[in-house]
Amino acid sequence: MEAGDLRRRALEEIRNVRWIPGWGSDRITGMIAHRPDWCISRQRSWGVPITVLLCEACGESYAPPELFEKIAARVEREGRISLV
Ligand SMILES: [Zn+2]
Repeated sequence: MEAGDLRRRALEEIRNVRWIPGWGSDRITGMIAHRPDWCISRQRSWGVPITVLLCEACGESYAPPELFEKIAARVEREGRISLV
């Protein structure tokens, strides 16, 4: 959560979201503020791949929504894809 100033940025973005119910904001703020790590697969159905590319040179992650859409379109068209 400290890499790339993620914790501070996440806490800032929480304030830009309209939470329904409203207490969700306090709950997620508490979780983000105090946890050492955050598992991005928590909210996903089992087996759904996480479409994030990782730069081997610098370790930076790359996960633009356009990438998700391209991969989803290919899976819809071809049933599955292999990136390896
Ligand atoms: Zn890089």
